[in-house]
Amino acid sequence: MKTEALLALDRQHIWHPYTAIPAQPEPYPVASAEGVYLTLTDGRRLIDGMSSWWSVIHGYNHPRLNQVAHAQIEQMAHVMFGGLTHEPAAELVKRLLQITPPALDQVFLADSGSVSVEVALKMAIQYWQAQGKAAKHRFLAFKGGYHGDTFGAMSVCDPENGMHHLFTGVLPQHYFAPRPEIRFHQDWRPEAIDEFARLLQQNHQHIAAVILEPIVQGAGGMWFYHLQYLREIRQLCDEYQVLLIADEIATGFGRSGRLLACEHAGVTPDLLCLGKALTGGYMTLAATLTTRAISQQIAESEAHCFMHGPTFMANPLACRVACSSLDVLLESDWQQTIQRIENRLATGLAPCRDLSNVADVRVLGAIGVVEMKQALDVGKIQSRLVEQGVWLRPFGRLLYTMPPYIMTDDQLDTVCQALYQSIA
Ligand SMILES: *Cc1c(COP(=O)(O)O)cnc(C)c1O
Repeated sequence: MKTEALLALDRQHIWHPYTAIPAQPEPYPVASAEGVYLTLTDGRRLIDGMSSWWSVIHGYNHPRLNQVAHAQIEQMAHVMFGGLTHEPAAELVKRLLQITPPALDQVFLADSGSVSVEVALKMAIQYWQAQGKAAKHRFLAFKGGYHGDTFGAMSVCDPENGMHHLFTGVLPQHYFAPRPEIRFHQDWRPEAIDEFARLLQQNHQHIAAVILEPIVQGAGGMWFYHLQYLREIRQLCDEYQVLLIADEIATGFGRSGRLLACEHAGVTPDLLCLGKALTGGYMTLAATLTTRAISQQIAESEAHCFMHGPTFMANPLACRVACSSLDVLLESDWQQTIQRIENRLATGLAPCRDLSNVADVRVLGAIGVVEMKQALDVGKIQSRLVEQGVWLRPFGRLLYTMPPYIMTDDQLDTVCQALYQSIA
């Protein structure tokens, strides 16, 4: 298909994330991708500073992931998981158990991040139901949080960013604590947890679980907060008999400098969601992990089972690629890599602080964020970036990068310089 025909079809018929039809600004047509580069249909090559929304940690078209995917296709691309099981799922679960807290050894392989959040929410509700505490069916979430776009997940996203007013009467009502304001590197102040503690104390009879993104609030604001919040929240959850769900869909697999962001605080949640980088960005797959205590309660409940089972649950192709992606990660010196990227982003983005339209610059692990004083014109910024050979996708007042871990120092410099130029 010629590029003009592709774009014409796209304009007429195709939805893109958070757009109307036709999508504005017009999307860029990609022909192929290799390493850190996207190649557009007109031959231009862009350094991808987005890792396709956190997921492509090893870069595109990775020889080892390709090889494993080809081999698995020859075996079986997919079989149903109802009544059947297979080695790719078992191999993946074996690996997940090695990198997650020992208490979390019951695994549900879901087909997307949002679904893994739905699964965690449902597990929490069924857990309390099984104990005759059906009133515990609400959640306590955080302003500035993001957990996905399906109804359950959307209901625990930031009420404003998530446009809850559009779905009043349809979305279940939950409780929202203030955004964790103390930053990752600031000094802790004990009163910072007061409002959260008050909400939990007053409403715990109705709350099944607290749900949060540990350390890094992603799509809701690209915000890095103090690890002491996690410790205090864990304690308060235990005190008030409320489960803790850690949504590590964005932070998992090293992005924040630890394999899981919860490790910064040494906290073990009761439920853990993984996704995005799980398959190295090759295809959609996610996981919800929980404890044996929770799975046993659910087994003994009135339903005797956990009520969820997607068609493409534990897709063998995705599981096999996920195994390979984890192997590539763990065989690498990923800690040193993330540290290198953090240092380079910190240096490269520092000049943005001197721009009068910039409100804040922050870097943690392989995440670099420039927060503007005003909302950005996505189309304008993106065309300036593309002119400089860089792919980033701003939202609201935020322009940020979370590069593939294979990005070289020179390429990181190019991304930072293009980012600076685009807003200067
Ligand atoms: C992306 C994301 C999700 C949703 O995952 P999808 O695969 O897009 O459904 C949920 N939680 C967090 C923290 C995310 O970053």
